[in-house]
Amino acid sequence: MKDKDKTKEQLISELAEMRQRITELQALETQHKQAEEQLRDSERHYRLLADNTNDIIWTMDKNLQLTYISPSIERHSGYTVEEMMEMTLEQTYTPASVEAMMKAYEEEVSLGKTGVKGQPTSRVLELEGYKKDGSTEWIEIHTTVLRDQDGNVTGIVGVTRKITERKKAEEKLRIRDKAIESSINAVAMANLEGNLTYLNPSFLKLWGYDNEEEILGRPTVEFWQAEEEAAMVMRAVLEKGGWQGELVAKRKDGLVFNVELSASLVRDEYGKPVCMMGCFIDLTERKRAEAELQHHYEQERELRQNLEEEVKRRVEFTRALVHELKTPVTPILASSDLLVEQLQEGPSLSLAKNIKEGASTMNRRIDTLLDLARGELGMLQLNRKQVDPLQLLQKVASEMSPAASSRELSLVLDVPRSLPSVWVDGSRLQQVIVNLLTNAFKWSPQGGKVTLRAKQKNDALIVEVQDMGPGIAKENQQKIFDAYYRVESDRQRLDGLGLGLALCKTIVESHGGKIWVESEKGKGSTFGFSVPLHVDVD
Ligand code: ADP
Repeated sequence: MKDKDKTKEQLISELAEMRQRITELQALETQHKQAEEQLRDSERHYRLLADNTNDIIWTMDKNLQLTYISPSIERHSGYTVEEMMEMTLEQTYTPASVEAMMKAYEEEVSLGKTGVKGQPTSRVLELEGYKKDGSTEWIEIHTTVLRDQDGNVTGIVGVTRKITERKKAEEKLRIRDKAIESSINAVAMANLEGNLTYLNPSFLKLWGYDNEEEILGRPTVEFWQAEEEAAMVMRAVLEKGGWQGELVAKRKDGLVFNVELSASLVRDEYGKPVCMMGCFIDLTERKRAEAELQHHYEQERELRQNLEEEVKRRVEFTRALVHELKTPVTPILASSDLLVEQLQEGPSLSLAKNIKEGASTMNRRIDTLLDLARGELGMLQLNRKQVDPLQLLQKVASEMSPAASSRELSLVLDVPRSLPSVWVDGSRLQQVIVNLLTNAFKWSPQGGKVTLRAKQKNDALIVEVQDMGPGIAKENQQKIFDAYYRVESDRQRLDGLGLGLALCKTIVESHGGKIWVESEKGKGSTFGFSVPLHVDVD
């Protein structure tokens, strides 16, 4: 029907209807505008929130391309929002983290094909991201994956939070745990009631258990020989905060062993006691070594005592022997002396001379033995007087000259014009010099030179005897001053008992001096000794 065919009433009614529709449309438009306004407000509100939050909020499309990221990213990573929007995943995260992210994404994609369909799903990932300065930082991202009705991923909304500090703390704890686990010292923890809550493998091994389930939760006092003592230790830890000392522990098989325990009370950050911790060092080996050492020490002491007694006995014996020998030699000497004086030239006189020579050599050797024995017992008497060393040396040199000449040796006296006098036993000192000269003569090659030298050095008088003999190897230089020591290669060659230098040493040391030798194999020897110029007379 055309408008012109309509009745007036009909037209009026349609007009009223249209007006009504227009009013409704206008109301709808107003509602729409209001809703749009509200939406804009809400978007502004959320963006404001996202822009100002400390966490980083972001959205990604289904191709994992950032579509929004909050400005807080710049504070955290150094990159601006614009820079971030341009960056690929590989530029944002370390390779391991990209891999973890891709894996998670693939899981999300396949999840959409299953029951979740259009439902959003969330997950948390720990990733390591790059900062603009090149360093890396651990972050935690909470993601919500959005899907359409068919389950296809349409985008991701995420919140990123820094966890570097937490990671570091966790790592520190992990290392600490590892260190305790692998410590060669046994470590255990107990609650405040004294029941075992933790033990490391070394503890298990030391106490002879196979696995921790056997003993976890058991009272710690059970692992000690004396339970009351262990209880006392625990009280000390609880009351004083710690205890350190030795205890006797009891193994699973009942055997006991010594342990050094260092126990302490562990408190939380507010100072409240939370548990007790003990560190144990097995003392078995140390105790065994100590016992062995003690045993060796006892043995050594016993040996030394025996040796000292032996030396004493030997010295006493030598003294007695010397005395016994001296008694018959004295009349032989006196009688042979008289015989030599009284007998006429002839075979009997030469026999008598032999007896006299033999007797006086024997007498000298007996005297040497006696002196040494006295020296060893500290009984060598010194008859000290003020002695002029020059006079003494000249006297010795002239007395020894014939002996030198008889071996075609030249004896040279090399002394300064003057020397200070010394407070010594002259005849003993002479004995030392004669001994050194006799040795020098004995070891010198025919036609060689022996020098007797003296000088003052600091507060001492130094006397030296130098020869051109075979010299003495370094390894023997100290030993030749020991009684009865003779250099191996010389033992068969020349007579002697190895007592001369030992006696020299005894005499020099009784004067407070020192004796030595400087020598090199094949280059002669220089024996020297010192006596102090001033002696403290007590
Ligand atoms: P002995 O009476 O046997 O000579 P000594 O105590 O006087 O005993 O000397 C000990 C050893 O020192 C000698 O056997 C010898 O090997 C060595 N000795 C001593 N003086 C000399 C020297 N002037 N040159 C080389 N060797 C020497």
